[in-house]
Amino acid sequence: MTGKSDAAKNGFLELVKRIRYYNDAIAVLYWDLRTGAPRKGVSQRAEVIGMLSSEAFKLTISDEMGSYLSYFDDPDNGSRLDPTMKAAVRECRKEYDKYKKIPEDKYREYVILTSEAESIWEDAKKNNDFELFKPYLEKIVDYNQQFIELWGYEGNKYNTLLDLYEPGMTVEKLDEIFSMLRSRIVPLAAKIRAVDYQPEDQFLKQYFDTGKQEEFSLFILDRMGYDFDAGRLDESEHPFTTGINPGDVRITTHYYPNDLISSVMSSLHEGGHALYEQNISADLKGTPLCEGASMGLHESQSRFWENIIGRSRSFWQKYFRDLQKFFPEQLKDISPEDFYRAINKVEPSLVRIEADEVTYNLHIMIRYEIEKALINGEINVADLPTVWGEKMKEYLGIVPPDDSKGVLQDVHWAGGSFGYFPSYALGNIYSAQIYNAAKKEIGNFHELIEKGELKVIKEWLTENIHKHGKLQKPAEIIMQATGEEINPVYLIDYLEQKYKEIYKLEL
Ligand code: ZN
Repeated sequence: MTGKSDAAKNGFLELVKRIRYYNDAIAVLYWDLRTGAPRKGVSQRAEVIGMLSSEAFKLTISDEMGSYLSYFDDPDNGSRLDPTMKAAVRECRKEYDKYKKIPEDKYREYVILTSEAESIWEDAKKNNDFELFKPYLEKIVDYNQQFIELWGYEGNKYNTLLDLYEPGMTVEKLDEIFSMLRSRIVPLAAKIRAVDYQPEDQFLKQYFDTGKQEEFSLFILDRMGYDFDAGRLDESEHPFTTGINPGDVRITTHYYPNDLISSVMSSLHEGGHALYEQNISADLKGTPLCEGASMGLHESQSRFWENIIGRSRSFWQKYFRDLQKFFPEQLKDISPEDFYRAINKVEPSLVRIEADEVTYNLHIMIRYEIEKALINGEINVADLPTVWGEKMKEYLGIVPPDDSKGVLQDVHWAGGSFGYFPSYALGNIYSAQIYNAAKKEIGNFHELIEKGELKVIKEWLTENIHKHGKLQKPAEIIMQATGEEINPVYLIDYLEQKYKEIYKLEL
């Protein structure tokens, strides 16, 4: 390697590290803001985060970055890079182009619009007032349509938005995936609704001391292999994971005194996200590759621990006795089997975040179809409440009584996150496909869970998913880990088998 190319490489790495370190600092400040920062300090804190974010942003689209990228664009220089450097350049190029193609003024207007829209949305949801939110949402959709024109698109316009969160995913693929899911999950959910048998779950709604709930969350995180020397567990209103760097991955959960399962499942879910971030290969530290490959793949790891493992019979065969020790009075007459059935109760809900495993993906499909139609100009924002109700009826058999429990329930659109929702369903689909591959390769998957040897499973995930970080595209990681491209049939089979047995259905 010549002196010049060494200098370019080092300079580039130095620059990406600087961006990364800003983001480290922002992540800590943000975590602090959401886990108990004093109320009176909140407004200045928000300004500090805003200022640091704009410094990091300026570096991302700086002339310095531009000149490194064009230097590596030259095949003479770019072809000599090792795979990690190539991927780092690819990611920086993607970010650079994304923002450079939008005129600065337009981008600034959009940032202001979405931050206003988020607080307007809060009021609109509280007061069940879609008309209040409507003009903001109309503008946000309009901006997104303009951005797509500036960024360019192949095939469907919505592809460009999908690619922001799930690189390589397209409407063409997703339509096919979702139509397979729809054809078997809608009837499955309807059959479950129609049977008389219902698992008894009232015992989950007793009083459960929140301190004990916290102890159990810590216990279970330790068993799944979460590294407490590289993280910590706190409480926040909405559970989340902050991956600052692989040595500092913090999670939160929320304890409700009258709901045992919420905190347990949130801890497993965020724990799954955290295992991903804690186990990215050390070679990728300080580069833009030191994060999950996509939102969908990230969600596959949280869903794997929350649902595939955390809602499995074998998991509670092993850990229900431990849980009973934390709550001997409340759970004294309950068997592991009663518990397993109770935590897998299926009930069509109006609200996505309260949905069970079977109906969850139906909520996502509704949002996907609406977003796709909005972005392509096939429906207008004004049509949303009606369209929402029709789709809820079609997919879930229920209609929301008002917009707060309907079209206004999620914050995503106020923040301009179009294209994000499908990641949640992709996470579920990937998780079942990964489960199938892990079962085949490891062999005695459920025996291991029953023996409490969860770390063997964690290591398999690290080897096949976690360690790659963002070095490869999600489709490549899935192909290597499972031997085929994304295939929803594993999720469908998993759900049908599991719920046929729980609900004694004839399928
Ligand atoms: Zn998640």
